[in-house]
Amino acid sequence: MTHRRITILGATGSVGGSTLDLVGGHEDRFSIDTLTAHRDVGGLAGLARKYRARHAVIADASLKEDLVAALAGSGITAEAGPEALCEAAMRPVDLVMAAIVGVAGLAPTLAAVRSQPVVALANKETLVCAGAFFMNEVARSGTLLLPVDSEHSALLQALGGPAFMEKPDFTAVEELVITGSGGPFRTLPEDDLERVTPQQAVAHPVWSMGSKISVDSATLMNKALELIEAKHLFSIHDARLKVLIHPQSIIHGLVRFKDGSVVAQMAQPDMRVPIAMALAWPERIMTRAATLDLAELASLTFERPDEARFPALRLARELLSAPGGGAAIANAANEYAVDAFLAGRIRFTDIVRICEETLLDADGFSRPAPANLEEALSLDAEGRRIAAVRASQSGSGAHVVGRVRSA
Ligand code: NAD
Ligand code: MG
Repeated sequence: MTHRRITILGATGSVGGSTLDLVGGHEDRFSIDTLTAHRDVGGLAGLARKYRARHAVIADASLKEDLVAALAGSGITAEAGPEALCEAAMRPVDLVMAAIVGVAGLAPTLAAVRSQPVVALANKETLVCAGAFFMNEVARSGTLLLPVDSEHSALLQALGGPAFMEKPDFTAVEELVITGSGGPFRTLPEDDLERVTPQQAVAHPVWSMGSKISVDSATLMNKALELIEAKHLFSIHDARLKVLIHPQSIIHGLVRFKDGSVVAQMAQPDMRVPIAMALAWPERIMTRAATLDLAELASLTFERPDEARFPALRLARELLSAPGGGAAIANAANEYAVDAFLAGRIRFTDIVRICEETLLDADGFSRPAPANLEEALSLDAEGRRIAAVRASQSGSGAHVVGRVRSA
């Protein structure tokens, strides 16, 4: 493998950190061109110095001078603002890791797809919000789009890896199954769900991740987003996409073939494994993930997902067969609601309810898929607007509920 220069969009996050861990462990293979972050100037500057980046970009335009000051004397150039983020995504490199959280990652990830040879995609919201249009851009530009999400990386490996990527062929495939741990509330009595706190929701039993995806994992909205992600990545009919609950998170994805064979990919729940797959593609490299010892684990268990307890999965089913505009609206409502929940303004159980109500208010299931970036961002803005109204109507902020109940 020739040396690869890498840009990381969202370098200060969980996926960004795991990516840098691999870069640091393979200095002969990888080096850093550009790192970006939202507002954490100190964190970004520290990483840029440590990994000898050439360029650093802070998304919040008002922090430009702070970044310039933090990088003084390092020789690393500093830029700021949304346009600088897209320009950074287009600086010629060998691979861009798209690891910004949320729809904020859509424009820079699109810019990367249009100009780079390889894009490793962690930012699933990009596909949920604008999958059809985004995948058209991937096809048009000829970029190699590699999944970073562990389930989708697993599916790609189980389908045949590089050989499948060269010549995708589903004739022998019956269905694709993504697994989910079930999150921290899989066995919590259903009545207690409305009282769970943000701290409980972000404490994932298996994975260590950013706060937004941790809450998504607790509502199972993460699985819902991943079903939509899989539909676009593999362009497969939604009826052939399934979710399996697997609390240990050792098997990440399974492909059921027509002859009765099921091929599954296993690994410790450590994002460095799927990230390494994308960074070194089509090779495999060492990671610092713990060895998987099945005898030590002794048992792996599986359950059917409970759609009554976790309505996000039902919502996903409906969105999968809808035209596509609804997914952008639901994604926006979810981002809004997760922020509101983390800020203590709504209850845990309000999150998916707000998504459902927003979809109904916006006539989401009949809205066409966005055809370009502007349409995607406009659906996103609409979803946020309606979700804000619905959140304010719920009249039941977490703290209010707590007071009412203890009175
Ligand atoms: P995180 O919150 O830990 O990090 C997010 C990164 O995006 C940070 O660097 C932050 O500075 C940047 N960012 C946030 N808002 C921004 C904005 N408005 N503009 C520009 N940059 C912004 O998130 P994460 O857990 O690393 O997840 C990143 C993405 O990867 C998400 O889409 C998530 O669903 C996906 N993903 C994460 C994991 C995981 O294990 N963490 C696994 C699979 C997929
Ligand atoms: Mg995942």
